[in-house]
Amino acid sequence: MMRQNKLFNNTRTSLALWYAGVMGLILSLLGMGVYKAISHAHWVALDNELESVAGTLHDSLELKLKQPGKIEPIIGKLLPNLCLVGTSCITDRFNSQRHGAYKGANAIRPTAPHILSAVERGNYYARLYDTSGRLIAIAGDYPEGLPQSLNTESWQTLSNRTNNIYHQISLSLHTQTREDWGYFQVGRSIADFEDYLGRVKLVLLLGLPTSLILVGFASWWLAGLAMQPIYRSYQQIEQFTADAAHELRTPLAATQATLESALLVDLDRQETKDILTTIERENKRLIQLVGDLLLLARMDRKAIPLRRQLFCLNDLVSDLVEELEPLAIANQITLTNEFRVKKSLNVSGDCDQLYRLVYNLIVNAIQHTPSDGRVTVILERDASDALIKVKDTGIGIAPEHQKKIFDRFYRVQSDRSRNTGGSGLGLAIAKSIARAHSFKLSVRSELGQGSTFIFQLPLAINSKVNF
Ligand code: ADP
Repeated sequence: MMRQNKLFNNTRTSLALWYAGVMGLILSLLGMGVYKAISHAHWVALDNELESVAGTLHDSLELKLKQPGKIEPIIGKLLPNLCLVGTSCITDRFNSQRHGAYKGANAIRPTAPHILSAVERGNYYARLYDTSGRLIAIAGDYPEGLPQSLNTESWQTLSNRTNNIYHQISLSLHTQTREDWGYFQVGRSIADFEDYLGRVKLVLLLGLPTSLILVGFASWWLAGLAMQPIYRSYQQIEQFTADAAHELRTPLAATQATLESALLVDLDRQETKDILTTIERENKRLIQLVGDLLLLARMDRKAIPLRRQLFCLNDLVSDLVEELEPLAIANQITLTNEFRVKKSLNVSGDCDQLYRLVYNLIVNAIQHTPSDGRVTVILERDASDALIKVKDTGIGIAPEHQKKIFDRFYRVQSDRSRNTGGSGLGLAIAKSIARAHSFKLSVRSELGQGSTFIFQLPLAINSKVNF
């Protein structure tokens, strides 16, 4: 249905694109936020882990150190793979690191299991410096190519020659007698951490375009859904314009044809009068139609304010019956009113508009009832409402038409030139007026038996008391 209209398709596409763009932006920001949060949480966890390993080692070391810058043999039990600088173990270790086993000659080997097994498991290394900043010993899983000069900043992130990143903490060390011993560093490779973040980044980077494609499809579908009511009302307007144009053309064409034929011949006085009468009739039809269209348009825009006032329904019904009696007589219909209430009923509303509504109902009833039929306007009430029922013994309305007759220009017999001359706006206006007042208008009808239009209006307070 929507495929036929280019404007709607273009709007749908641009809506879908905008929606997908905005969603894409939101998702990207969200992805970045998630990545930052994960990365931050990992850094915090890493720092905590390093801090606790370093703190434990540091405290244990300080209990054992006696002389500044001197490594006691017992230290080998605290730090795995401890190896003193200046001995061959460092070189050996670098060579054997990749093959797993460490076979350094001067290593002070730990006795298994080591109390600080975390150092062995988690790619940790430890470095000991004396007070002058000279590297004395290293332990654990010592990384190749890491700068050896002392940096006393607490937290550092370093990289080695192969661009592996390491994170380390520096602490100052004291002897048992609180003399300065030197410095102690504990660090670890963050390759596993970087790996994990890399995977998170990859998932986010792949997930984003995938979700954007899904968002694109969803927004295309949603835009179509959102535009359906707009498209339907656009179609209704198109239909309305076409119907209005058609209705306007009929009297205009009739007037034109009359004028053209009149211009061809010399007319006597009576003929001129006849022609002018025809033109007047068509003109009246035009004025009526344009007036109805204007009224509907104003009611749609709520441009007509409701002038609510208290008035008596009994008077309204009697006035209408009186006014339409000649029309009923002309159609050989018996038009009567029937008041099924003891007292007069008052309602609050726009008297002129409500008059027009009931007028349309009675005129319809007269027009759709064959000669010798009856039209009765009944006034009754229930607990809180007044009811005006316009009942006829006419042609009736089939169930499939009963809802549609309130649509603009809808007529059960589609022949627009039939004798009632109606434009199909009467009930649409009636419904609009009822809606503006929030009153109910409904129909009950049986084909061939007649119809009853029921108009339900809430009673004004004093009428309710009189019930
Ligand atoms: P119209 O100007 O054609 O009367 P309306 O909007 O008043 O337009 O009515 C719409 C259609 O509803 C009519 O064309 C007619 O077919 C049907 N209708 C309305 N009132 C009655 C009625 N009392 N009995 C049978 N049909 C009716």
